[in-house]
Amino acid sequence: MFDYASPKQFPPSKTGKHLGVGQHPHRGFETVTIAFQGEVEHKDSNGNSGVIGPGDCQWMTAGRGIVHEEYHSEEFTKKGGTFEFCQLWVNLPKVHKMKKSRYQAILNENIPKVALRTMDGAGNEGVCLDEQIALEDGYARIIAGEFQGKKGPAQTFSPVNLWDVVLLNKDKMFELDVPDGHNSLVFVRRGAVEVQGKALGLADVAIMNRDGGKLTVKATEKNTSLLIMSGEPIDEPIAARGPFVMNTQKQLNDAMQDFRRGLNGFER
Ligand code: MN
Repeated sequence: MFDYASPKQFPPSKTGKHLGVGQHPHRGFETVTIAFQGEVEHKDSNGNSGVIGPGDCQWMTAGRGIVHEEYHSEEFTKKGGTFEFCQLWVNLPKVHKMKKSRYQAILNENIPKVALRTMDGAGNEGVCLDEQIALEDGYARIIAGEFQGKKGPAQTFSPVNLWDVVLLNKDKMFELDVPDGHNSLVFVRRGAVEVQGKALGLADVAIMNRDGGKLTVKATEKNTSLLIMSGEPIDEPIAARGPFVMNTQKQLNDAMQDFRRGLNGFER
């Protein structure tokens, strides 16, 4: 699942009431929350709490169970501002679904930025000119996986790439390596782009085939931002209901029952 909260302006709160989602459970997968603008404060049944601010990412492994809440931060509630977030649900392989929950707070400053390799714009595809490598043309923030030899900080249970890509200038062509066999997805967060020659506009999503290889991207507007996600298919049965993602209906019922028994981290 991929959920995007597009930029929205919130006035300073008069009542001080925090907006957000109260206590709720998860089991069997990971929630990956990326902050673009604004702040979310979270708390979970493991005793973790913190604020996810602009550029940060929270990679939470629900595993066998976690209960958490997600709200606008105290500061954001008071001051107001623009709020822009996304959340991606990453499935867990069967053998890891009942692992103990954990969470990785990945701060903006710990996410490496890699300059994109410009191709020569004249349509001479396949030629990378190393001398044209320049951060001012565009860069990728590597949250998870690997990009041009640089690894992202997120630890994952199956091979996953999560790149926050910024194309600063229009009409420059870049090619990005997507691993063979991965399912991949391109989301246009800002601006407009051509992916493999196909035009995509704001909030468009493109699901790429599994051939992998080079993904050719060219912004058609300045300051275009893409989120590129890819993952090795797990190819196991999925049974999903509400906040649980398991393999069978029985496991979903168990998850609900365990949660209702009121155990934090609902052990089984
Ligand atoms: Mn949640």
